[in-house]
Amino acid sequence: MGICWCGNTKLLSFSAEYGECDECGTLVSLEGMTPEQLRVGNDETDFYGKQYWLNHQSSDLGFPDIYKRARNDLTERNLHWLKTLLKYRLPSAKVLELGCSHGSFVALMRQAGYDAAGVEMSPWVVEFGQKIFGVPISVGPIENLDIVPGSLDVIALMDVLEHLPDPVATMAHCLQLLKPDGILLIQTPQFKEEMDYTALVETKGAFLEQLKADEHLYLFSDRSVTRLFQQLGAEYIEFVPAIFGIYDMFFAVSRAQLQVNIPEQVDSALLSTSNGRLALALLDLRERELDLMRKLQESESDRAARWTQIETLTAMLKESESDRAARGEQIETLTRMLRGSKANRVGLGEQIESLAGMLKKSDSDRAALGVQIDSLTAMLTELDFDRAARGEQIESLSGMLKEFKADSAARGEQIEMLVVDLRALFARPGFRWLIRFSSWPEVRKLAERVGAHNE
Ligand SMILES: [Zn+2]
Repeated sequence: MGICWCGNTKLLSFSAEYGECDECGTLVSLEGMTPEQLRVGNDETDFYGKQYWLNHQSSDLGFPDIYKRARNDLTERNLHWLKTLLKYRLPSAKVLELGCSHGSFVALMRQAGYDAAGVEMSPWVVEFGQKIFGVPISVGPIENLDIVPGSLDVIALMDVLEHLPDPVATMAHCLQLLKPDGILLIQTPQFKEEMDYTALVETKGAFLEQLKADEHLYLFSDRSVTRLFQQLGAEYIEFVPAIFGIYDMFFAVSRAQLQVNIPEQVDSALLSTSNGRLALALLDLRERELDLMRKLQESESDRAARWTQIETLTAMLKESESDRAARGEQIETLTRMLRGSKANRVGLGEQIESLAGMLKKSDSDRAALGVQIDSLTAMLTELDFDRAARGEQIESLSGMLKEFKADSAARGEQIEMLVVDLRALFARPGFRWLIRFSSWPEVRKLAERVGAHNE
């Protein structure tokens, strides 16, 4: 096919099954489907017939089948839709749900007090819904239904817009059925224009499951859906939170300014009927459930954070324990070393005492020696002094001896001279005689001494 709802035929390649319209920002199925294919003539064989709701949904797509959905959707989806509907229109507004499937939302709306009805393509599903919920459901398409133009307050399309072969024509028809200020309440997958197919596959993006080219013919972006309705004269659009915001968008769109009901108006509208009270009770329960889920999530993430903290602390404790054990060993080693050192110190003390004793002894010994040395020194000094005195004495004696010798030599010479003189004297004739005959012996002796007595 390869033509966008906006008329653009030059689509960019997005994936094997989808082209991307860069004019409006819609993903366009390349398989396509005609309005005729959408219709269910034969419930056993046509695409949106009985098998779509039984086998295709559960076996091919892995969703719960229509029996389970008829129960689960009430709480999982319909209450959220009802809450949003109440924001824009109060009961007993006239609402049509296009593509209502088993009709649970129609039933809930009716419970709340709306004049609600549904449209579905498969006669089998229509009959199923009518039977299980007892609500008015017509076999589509909507173009075939006998609805007075400008008579509806709301048309809801939940997961339907993306299936339409000609969204422009169908939406134009819907708008025509709405009152001038009527609204379309639409949930549809949201294509984000920055999405890249390869990146989606690599990151296993949630939007991937919306890429079903045989069913989802147009996957709008918020820009392209705004453009679609602007083109149809519905320029007031308000996006609200979608249940599955990860891949869906949810919005109200109208040709008139959107009017919003405050919670008190909603409460009082629902409390005004007995059925409305039951619907309000369900809404209250859903609120409480969501609140509890939020708290649970908070608590879970808190618990996860605490668990991480516990793990961190456990690891720190383990580390600290092993550190403590290491320190214990260190302390033991040090204690052992200290003990050894103490014993060693005692030994050293004894050694020191012994050395000190030896030192003391040596000191006193040294003092004694000092005294001895002093005494010896004194003696030596005395001796030296004595020696000097003796030297002097010796010198004096030597001098005296020399003098004496010289004196003696002089006397010797004198004596020799006297001897010579005496000899000469005794040699005289008179003396010879005298010596021989003298009565004085001393003269003889003297002559003998000088050797003059024999002459
Ligand atoms: Zn386009």
